[in-house]
Amino acid sequence: METESHQLNVIFLPYLSPGHLNPMVDTARLFARYGASVTIITTHANALTFQNAIDSDFNSGYHIRTQVVPFPTAQLGLPDGAENLKDATSPDIIGKIFYGVSMLQGPIELLFQDLQPDCLVTDLLYPWTVESAAKLGIPRLHFYSASHFASCATHFIRKHKPHERVASATQKFSIPGLPHHIEMTNLQLEQWIKTKDEFSDLINEANESELRSYGTLSNSFHELEGDYENLYKSTKGIKCWSIGPVSAWANKGNEEKVTRGHKEDFAQDSEWLHWLNSKQNESVLYVSFGSLTRLPHAQIVEIAHGLEISGCSFIWVAREKDEIDNGHVFLQEFEEKMKRSKKGFIIWNWAPQLLILDHPAIGGIVTHCGWNSILESVSAGVPMMTWPMFAEQFYNEKLLVDVLKIGVPVGAKENKFWTSLGEDAMVGREEIAKAVVQLMGKEESTEIRRRARELAGASKKTIEEGGSSYNSLMQLLDELKSLKKTNIKI
Ligand code: UDP
Repeated sequence: METESHQLNVIFLPYLSPGHLNPMVDTARLFARYGASVTIITTHANALTFQNAIDSDFNSGYHIRTQVVPFPTAQLGLPDGAENLKDATSPDIIGKIFYGVSMLQGPIELLFQDLQPDCLVTDLLYPWTVESAAKLGIPRLHFYSASHFASCATHFIRKHKPHERVASATQKFSIPGLPHHIEMTNLQLEQWIKTKDEFSDLINEANESELRSYGTLSNSFHELEGDYENLYKSTKGIKCWSIGPVSAWANKGNEEKVTRGHKEDFAQDSEWLHWLNSKQNESVLYVSFGSLTRLPHAQIVEIAHGLEISGCSFIWVAREKDEIDNGHVFLQEFEEKMKRSKKGFIIWNWAPQLLILDHPAIGGIVTHCGWNSILESVSAGVPMMTWPMFAEQFYNEKLLVDVLKIGVPVGAKENKFWTSLGEDAMVGREEIAKAVVQLMGKEESTEIRRRARELAGASKKTIEEGGSSYNSLMQLLDELKSLKKTNIKI
């Protein structure tokens, strides 16, 4: 253990959604494990989702704690505990939670001053923290749990605007500047690239603050997308440490995997586990669209039929509240039917994803291509059926399908957040069944499976002593320590 005066004092400030919070908490825990004194600033309801892990690390002797700031739920007329984007039940609530997060700036800046950290690790969606760090004379590390591939793709699309030279929203264009030939359509791009609004302003500020940061801390690893890591460094011209996959590194035991990112304990003898235990190795498809996606009812019906037609066993995380609120009983009836046939299992609302992916019965995942779900699947050696929905997920699909060749695309066409997908953008049951068979059929997927296993091996090595992510984290900690020692103001 470091002596107090030499110990690095690092503040982590995660954004309030699981895709941002989970990897940053994992990273904070790694910093503490390798000698830093760590404070994670968050709100009460969010702290509850990871406090068990922090308490357990603290009890093992690591210097890690959570500092809570109150979220203005009552002031904004939000339901009690709605402090995370995943809690939103309507676009109006999303807007309020976004606004609530922006109201935290004042109290958080006061905490920065009180805690006198040596370094800030903050989410890309807090661009103002660059100024906070500058006032304190300390480095700000820009934290981004997204692929280097997606960063490079957006960089070159914004720079060269190939999407402005096509005749229609569905005509393909290729992205200049990338080492692979990658094609996209206008429909698949994020809205903020195409139109100017409040969100595009925030992203522009985030990009600008990224360039003014001390460096980027990335949840990726060299063996996965080294070409794009190098391209990222050379195009942005800033330092970058790739230290992923942090989920696998920070959560090694079953206990950690089961409680990761969720306050309720999933009993180790739960029904879903018994069901999975009864299945043959690599025979079950795990279906999850992450923490934020909301699907229109008509799409849910197509998924159910598609899975049934495929004949493949599946375990599907679905949102009970959305269905009940909209007066639908289809999924409940489908659940009963699947229970009788033993073909499918529905987990309502939230699943212990790390544990499920690691289960030997799982042979594939249907994923919305959220970066964390991708890394978690890669770590588990699970190939993917790619079904991107919004944000940078369509780029991630290209990385999986065209570059890494560990994904089978379902054929998603349109980048849409929350709001219902148009009829044209819906994926039909036959297409779903076809992609499932391609992914889960042993003959069809031999090569994909081999590559997924290879990458899983690389993902394990990279976080072991001497591996590239391990070395990256050690180099970063050494650099931060020497900055502290020499008392250089940034
Ligand atoms: N997650 C989970 N259980 C669920 C849904 C999501 O544990 O039922 C976790 C998942 O393991 C991942 C995060 O929530 O760590 C979702 O992040 P991702 O980047 O995949 O997608 P997002 O939710 O941001 O769209």
